[in-house]
Amino acid sequence: MKRIYLDHGATTPPHADVIEAMLPYFRQYFGNPSSVHSFGREARRALDESREKTALALGVKPEEIIFTSGGTEANNLAIQGVVEALAARGRHVITSAVEHHAVLDTVKIMADKGCSLTVLPVDRCGIVDPDDLRKAIRDDTVLVTIMTANNEIGTVQPVEELARTCRDKGVPFHTDAVQAIGSIPLDLRGVPIDLLSLSAHKFYGPKGIGALFVRKGTKLGKLMFGGGQERKMRPGTENIPAIVGLAKAIEMATKDIPGKSAAITVLRDRLIEKLLNEIDAVQLNGHPVHRLPGNVNISVNFVEGEGLLLDLDLNGIAASSGSACTSGSLEASHVLMACGMDHQTAHGSLRLTLGHGNTLEEVDYTVATLKNSVDRLRGMSSLYKNYRRQVDKNHAGGEKTCTTKR
Ligand SMILES: *Cc1c(COP(=O)(O)O)cnc(C)c1O
Repeated sequence: MKRIYLDHGATTPPHADVIEAMLPYFRQYFGNPSSVHSFGREARRALDESREKTALALGVKPEEIIFTSGGTEANNLAIQGVVEALAARGRHVITSAVEHHAVLDTVKIMADKGCSLTVLPVDRCGIVDPDDLRKAIRDDTVLVTIMTANNEIGTVQPVEELARTCRDKGVPFHTDAVQAIGSIPLDLRGVPIDLLSLSAHKFYGPKGIGALFVRKGTKLGKLMFGGGQERKMRPGTENIPAIVGLAKAIEMATKDIPGKSAAITVLRDRLIEKLLNEIDAVQLNGHPVHRLPGNVNISVNFVEGEGLLLDLDLNGIAASSGSACTSGSLEASHVLMACGMDHQTAHGSLRLTLGHGNTLEEVDYTVATLKNSVDRLRGMSSLYKNYRRQVDKNHAGGEKTCTTKR
């Protein structure tokens, strides 16, 4: 059976050129970059070049890049590092209700340790209102952390406006841009973001490697102690093959973003249109316009998301319900709940995330498969039959997308 991968929000397949770029650093150039001999110097050169490439892709300076073990560590380093470094100034942190757990759980731990925490709400489409942020900033605010784009519903935040609001008030702004790299053009020369997290495996690079951009002049404490690597901010022998892979992947991912995004957006919009038109009682979650080019998140009423996932998997289609981390648990997605969705509807949500390898045929096959599955599962639901009777009587269906002022 041919398999269809529609879970690029969870991870992406490493690009062949990325793998190719990494191989010599396993086979031949295995030296430790801290060694003074020629083996070490080869590895050091690869590390330096990778840092330069990564910085270039973001429009920043090489010395502003710290390589980490991934997005989770980058988020932890940013949040814990800034809070610690600015402890004398205050202990108030602001975030949003739709962050990835790597941010949300970290700020909650900081709150347990004595920080004061403001969690900004989002509207029904998942957008943070910059006015809310402006009002929430206090004299003792030391950090604002709001993601660039959401991993579950794909909503893209007005991150420039949020960053500018923080800059105006002199508060460091961190953004988890893990989902945004390669999908949304980000030139950090013009946007006052102070810290930014990224992860290679979300843009066709290897897993277990990421980076934190820290703008020059931003005060940052450290998470770990040991050797002097990464300007002492992230000790431990550098993972050179992975770092080379990240650099190759970000170089490729940030080339012609508008062109590549447009191609995926065509697939996404066809998928959304067909799902909303061909399957009854389905809503699109997340913003209809300000959304990641590859993200589709729908709620299929009167059906359990897990049931749909299983049916899709039996037909070779890989998708996810809510977020990859919460699927398998009975907790409804905190992101959908923050958008004002009830538990029941949140449980019927499905995330389909497209990538460069997907085709129109795959989109059409997926919709047909999903339609069959929904029909079968709803055939067993008396709730659905009641709903149909009501709709047929009133000639009215529900809203198919959220409404927002942005
Ligand atoms: C995947 C993801 C992370 C975690 O990155 P890892 O490299 O897997 O640790 C953090 N934030 C967002 C938005 C993500 O999508």
